[in-house]
Amino acid sequence: MSFRTRILCALGAVGLVPLSLAASFSFAASKTELERTVGRAQAAAAAEAARGCERFIARALESLRISTGMLPLRELTRDELAKVLGIPYRQLDFVRALALLDYDGALLAPPVVGPFISGTGDPAHVQRFLAHVPLRLAIDAGTAIGSAYRDDGESLIAVALQVRGERSVVAAEVSLGEIEQRMRQLAGEDVARVVDGLGEVLAGSTTTPLSAAERDLVAAAAAGRPISRVVAGANGTRWLASAAAVPQIGWTVLVAQPTDEAFRPAHHVRFYSALWAAVALLLIAVLGVVLSRGLTGPMEKLSQAVAQLGDGRYDVDLDIERGDEIGRFADAFRRMAGDLRRRDDEIRRWNAELQARVDQGTRELRTAQDQILRTRRLAALGSLGAGIAHELNNPLTAVTGLLTLLRLDLQPDSPQAATIQQALDQSFRMAKIVSELRAFAEQERGEGRTFPLDRPVRAALDHYAGQLAKQNIRVVTDLAASSRQTQGDPARIQRAVANVVENAIQAMPQGGELKVELTDVDGEALKLSISDTGEGIPAALRERIFDPFFTTKKNGAGVGMGLSVSHSIVEAHHGRILVESEEGKGATFIIFLPAAAPAAHLA
Ligand code: ADP
Repeated sequence: MSFRTRILCALGAVGLVPLSLAASFSFAASKTELERTVGRAQAAAAAEAARGCERFIARALESLRISTGMLPLRELTRDELAKVLGIPYRQLDFVRALALLDYDGALLAPPVVGPFISGTGDPAHVQRFLAHVPLRLAIDAGTAIGSAYRDDGESLIAVALQVRGERSVVAAEVSLGEIEQRMRQLAGEDVARVVDGLGEVLAGSTTTPLSAAERDLVAAAAAGRPISRVVAGANGTRWLASAAAVPQIGWTVLVAQPTDEAFRPAHHVRFYSALWAAVALLLIAVLGVVLSRGLTGPMEKLSQAVAQLGDGRYDVDLDIERGDEIGRFADAFRRMAGDLRRRDDEIRRWNAELQARVDQGTRELRTAQDQILRTRRLAALGSLGAGIAHELNNPLTAVTGLLTLLRLDLQPDSPQAATIQQALDQSFRMAKIVSELRAFAEQERGEGRTFPLDRPVRAALDHYAGQLAKQNIRVVTDLAASSRQTQGDPARIQRAVANVVENAIQAMPQGGELKVELTDVDGEALKLSISDTGEGIPAALRERIFDPFFTTKKNGAGVGMGLSVSHSIVEAHHGRILVESEEGKGATFIIFLPAAAPAAHLA
């Protein structure tokens, strides 16, 4: 479950549950209270209406008794009776018909009906009236009230009174219009009815028959005090109904109000509770979203930043600027990321430094190995060269001497003299090579003497000064830096340096720069470096250039012995000669020579 859902659930539970419980309790309580108070008022109204009905019936019977009691019924003829009956008929406005009957139910005079004219009423109406007259009851009890019926929309009952001292009964059709009127007033928007002992509606704001529940209520009320309860109506709607018995008569007044109406305040409570619950729900949703966004947004950013750190990307841009716990957490995270970045940079620096040292060490090792191999190889070649030079030297001297003698006997301009001269030139060339071979092979390690190294270097440069100037080569020297001396043979050192300088000059036919530097190495050695800006040496040839007779120079311009001789001279002085070059970018020859021990001074 996400954090946002949890916040929403918690807020919902805290906000909605108490509200819903309070709403449902207050609805139930107010409904019960309303049922009690409205029911009580309704029952009181029903009781009052019941008393009104009783008064109406009592008044009607009393008025009828008085009016008919005064009439001299015994002495009158049938037609006179009819006229006399018209008097109470006109006096009593609730009487719709009047008849005089004997104990057998026979009419003693034409009934008074309709517009005050005896015998002119609707026969069907008269018939219905007479059919409802409670004759037997009246004969037994003196006064009787019949069941209700309707005519022309008017609710009517027939009442019967025994005529005092006579075996006759006065029957009157009484209109319940007044009661109906009162019921309508009582009902207002609701329902009020008067029902008889059988549950039939006598008069009311409606003539809808009673439902079973309403009949039960009526029966319960008939037995005693007014009663109020919620009942189901005939059409299924629920009513808050109250019933009150009309004493003596056996009728009941039933007042009913739809429960929706009766409990309207309770429904209002429920409606407003639901409304506030909806408002609370909305507030909870908004609050929940705002709260969770305030938390989940930064958490999202933080987890992205953590993932970024995990990937090794330390330039974390965490845009959370807040003064609360999350803001402080973000600050701490930024500090941590900064520390990590610094440490990572440090480790990288160490790594790079370590790598550089390893590379440097490897390079130096390789150079040393190359140096050793080269020294061994050249030493072997040196022995071979010494042997060959020794063996060739004597015959060559003899050949040269004999050729010189031969040429002396010939005319200088003869063809033989020219041939002899050519043979002599080649012999001299061979003698030179043999001499180079000997120089290469016969370098001995000797003590020699101490001398400042810059001196033979300057001498070598002076030797080539003319050629350097001619080839437009700029010479840059820095020979003053070293004050230390070296030991050995300065003439041989000059030769070694001269060979290097000569190669540099030949590598720069179009001119360039020759840089010669002399420096101290930790006070123990002297480092002479000679750099040119010439054609450079391809990597594949770099190790072979010190071999005897290796040359790339065409047309006999080189014999290939220069660097071999330089190498053996330097080696004889306990030194080292190295080359650094890149094709097309010039070459640098470095000669290391041991520094001579300083002279001891005795005090
Ligand atoms: P030589 O000069 O007679 O050829 P060296 O032994 O002096 O013999 O040189 C051997 C080879 O080394 C040269 O032929 C040339 O190819 C190469 N070499 C020496 N010095 C340089 C330099 N400064 N620039 C380019 N190549 C060089």
